[in-house]
Amino acid sequence: MSAPDHPKKLFIKTYGCQMNVYDSDRMADAMAEEGYVAAAGPEDADLVLLNTCHIREKASEKVFSELGRLEALRTQREAAGGPDMLIGVAGCVAQAEGEEIVRRMPGVDLVVGPQSYHHLPEMVAKASGRDRTARGAAARAAEDGRVATDFALAEKFALLPRPTREAVRARGLTAFLTVQEGCDKFCSFCVVPYTRGAEVSRPVEDVLDEARELVAAGVMELTLLGQNVNAWHGLDADGRPVGLGGLLRRLAEIPGLVRLRYTTSHPRDMDDELIAAHRDLEKLMPYLHLPVQSGSDSILKAMNRRHTRADYLRLIERIRAARPDIAMSGDFIVGFPGETEADFEATLSIVREVGYASAFCFKYSPRPGTPGAGLPDQVPEAVKAERLARLLALVGEQTQAFARASVGRTMDVLLEKKGRLSGQLGGRSPYLQAVHVAAPESLIGTIQRMEIVAAGNNSLEGKIVTDSEPKSASLVESSAV
Ligand code: SAM
Ligand code: SF4
Repeated sequence: MSAPDHPKKLFIKTYGCQMNVYDSDRMADAMAEEGYVAAAGPEDADLVLLNTCHIREKASEKVFSELGRLEALRTQREAAGGPDMLIGVAGCVAQAEGEEIVRRMPGVDLVVGPQSYHHLPEMVAKASGRDRTARGAAARAAEDGRVATDFALAEKFALLPRPTREAVRARGLTAFLTVQEGCDKFCSFCVVPYTRGAEVSRPVEDVLDEARELVAAGVMELTLLGQNVNAWHGLDADGRPVGLGGLLRRLAEIPGLVRLRYTTSHPRDMDDELIAAHRDLEKLMPYLHLPVQSGSDSILKAMNRRHTRADYLRLIERIRAARPDIAMSGDFIVGFPGETEADFEATLSIVREVGYASAFCFKYSPRPGTPGAGLPDQVPEAVKAERLARLLALVGEQTQAFARASVGRTMDVLLEKKGRLSGQLGGRSPYLQAVHVAAPESLIGTIQRMEIVAAGNNSLEGKIVTDSEPKSASLVESSAV
């Protein structure tokens, strides 16, 4: 154990989506109250947590190889007379596999599902007091409180401590804020309804309070998170139902908050109120991640997406009518069971029709317990790989075209941090593009109007337009990309 006059150190390795990034910060906040500080890596940590992702097979298998490495590190440390290390598994693999993790890796000291993070401090305290020789006793895991995977989401948010101002500042000018968790959609490929549970929205005042605290600590840009964020719903001050569009309007009133984003959305929950928010709110950035998954109606039906290709295209038209310069992003799955070459061609054609600024493309990964895994006509791996390569090539062309179309335009860039090279700063355009610029450090935390002078593979190069005043709130671009 580390000497009592030294603070204990925590290292969290985060896999998967932004919600896990948010959750990792909340776990760090909870353990900070117990005196834990951040470790640079697992080597100097007293507690290592893997915050895991179960969405595809590769993601969850990585966890077990990482656990093997951590156990070897701990054994080495023990042999050298070093301090002990607790190893914990959090996130969706913890939720889905629960006790199975301890059976497979008996050295794991705690397993905590996403809805149980408020129990983390007591679980760590218990694990610290546990007899080390009990580590191999997987069968005892159920009785000794090593596994917590209940679904008490409301409790989680009420009981987890908020970060200190210092912790928020250290995390930068942009922050995630989870407003919704879980999902009731049950797409036939997806584990989320099983790992994150039923759809739950956080109350308006809760979200506003957390947002105000983040802004008071210096956050300028907030990204609202949810597995299905646009299914968020609540009640306004008069008890009337309000959707995500209404929540964004309330958040936009917070002075000092200059940019709003949200992710990830389902096409079925993109209602008029939310589309109107894109039309009316200057602070709501013109970038929308709206996954369609496939361009083929028969595959969309088999996926249980409950919308057609035409529904999606009509929706995009309405969104673009409200906000003509909006940059679209999406997710695509290739090789869902039964996908024919013609179905796949329909996916390529919807990509061409919409024109994406960015997109995430995946080979279908059968997930145990989901309806898709049991369907006949699973697509061979080689076919999936070949389709993925073709889709990636098309999406790559579109991403590059979007970047090139930015050259010569002027846009507002939030300068967030030092750039890779000295004398350079890095920031984001309204369309979530990384932008670098030669500028003094004193401009970090300001929004600068810039001309985009070059487009590289991963970022744009900007030049500050010198006759404009630094801006704090007005961010809207008028010309379309
Ligand atoms: N709620 C969002 C929606 O409705 O599109 C998606 C959230 S999901 C956590 C993120 C993405 O992972 C999905 O959009 C999908 O493309 C991908 N994904 C989910 N399950 C998958 C699977 N079994 N195989 C491959 N990709 C998968
Ligand atoms: Fe998964 Fe999204 Fe479908 Fe929910 S809506 S089941 S999170 S893909």
